[in-house]
Amino acid sequence: MPATVVIGAQWGDEAKGKLVDSLAESASLVARFNGGDNAGHTVINAYGTFKVRLVPNGFSTPGALCAIGPGVVLNLNTLLQEIATIEASDLALSERLWISPRCHVVMPYHPLVEGIYEAAKGTGRTGTTGRGMGPVYADKVSYNGIRLYDLQQPEVLLEKLRIQLEVKNRLLQAFEAVPLQAKQVADEYLALFERLRPVVREPFGIVQDALQAGKQVLLEGAQGSLLDNTWGTYPFCTASDTLSGGACSGLGVAPRWIERVVGVTKAYTSRVGAGPMPTELLDSTGEVLRKEGQEYGTVTGRPRRCGWLDAEALRFTCQLNGVSELALTKLDVLDTLPAVKICTSYRAPASSQPAHYWEGNSAWLETVQPVYEELPGWQQPTRQLREFGDLPANARAFVQRVQELAGVKVSIVSVGPERNESILIQ
Ligand code: GDP
Repeated sequence: MPATVVIGAQWGDEAKGKLVDSLAESASLVARFNGGDNAGHTVINAYGTFKVRLVPNGFSTPGALCAIGPGVVLNLNTLLQEIATIEASDLALSERLWISPRCHVVMPYHPLVEGIYEAAKGTGRTGTTGRGMGPVYADKVSYNGIRLYDLQQPEVLLEKLRIQLEVKNRLLQAFEAVPLQAKQVADEYLALFERLRPVVREPFGIVQDALQAGKQVLLEGAQGSLLDNTWGTYPFCTASDTLSGGACSGLGVAPRWIERVVGVTKAYTSRVGAGPMPTELLDSTGEVLRKEGQEYGTVTGRPRRCGWLDAEALRFTCQLNGVSELALTKLDVLDTLPAVKICTSYRAPASSQPAHYWEGNSAWLETVQPVYEELPGWQQPTRQLREFGDLPANARAFVQRVQELAGVKVSIVSVGPERNESILIQ
């Protein structure tokens, strides 16, 4: 049974956490391959409610190994707190967790540098989560990163920190921030690393063994495809590769192992921070979506921008990721609406032709108008339903239309936050 990749098909927060948690029940290994603690996956199951940022979502399946691949960047404080919270819920992790020593570490200067750039951008700010993701990935690609490997040798760490702070402290001082002391930072990070040392071990071998043995391997993407650093709404995006292909480089899994790509999409759209969002609703319907969907950021607590489902963008992300099936989440959020809309394409200014997401950049996307199709609402609660045939006819028609427009079948419909609140479609 080769690998399944789960990716967000929108701007993140698609409820990947719930989905991976439920798919993990039958997995032997669950791995993260991208992003850092800017992710925030909510999981509600028999062990409790968890907001996990770094630990792979197989933690609630006691038989599953959890791997953090080298494509992930680590905030060590977040990681240690998260491990402690999970273990306090009677879920032992120490035997099951494998963290690649190739992972880059978020150092204290990374969020500070990010803050300086955000301030300099003023009203054009990216609206980042403030976790230092951009600077840590920038240091990675420019050969200035600090990896867990470096924390295994105090003298190596100290020398690398000395070089980094020679440059970074000048920037911090120029913007009236307090400079950092190499020895102090090194001592702090070496102490954090000591607590993690037993689980810092390259997971490449266990991942390959599991694939060879035909075990179920689940690869868990963070953020969403429209936040991908290359294909997303740059620069209003994230620093990592959020696409299914990111699992290959971020974990060391060859493309031929990936058999199933599950794209997770809400029945509407949300996004956090700045950047284009053609279907955003600034009216009372947007407010209903925010309230019913509890659309407030897991990491930042910020109210999320809400709007109708954007099937133009969804079709694009399905193509981009090779999505083989869709999980349509939060259908229940639409339960009270008398009518629901789906954006089927865009119209660029002064053009009568349909325009596509991929035709232009973020500035261009700000100018396009969504073309909507309106469907009747169902105005009945769906949360208690477990069979597709039991959904109201209008809800079934909505699901049907989503899969037609996306060009991919919907195999899971989620109608509530808990692990079992899903409808599987054969
Ligand atoms: P992720 O980052 O993609 O895992 O998504 P988040 O955890 O940021 O956001 C998903 C939110 O929706 C969480 O609060 C979940 O508990 C909740 N949720 C997940 N599935 C459903 C669903 O089908 N219906 C409703 N109403 N809430 C859901």
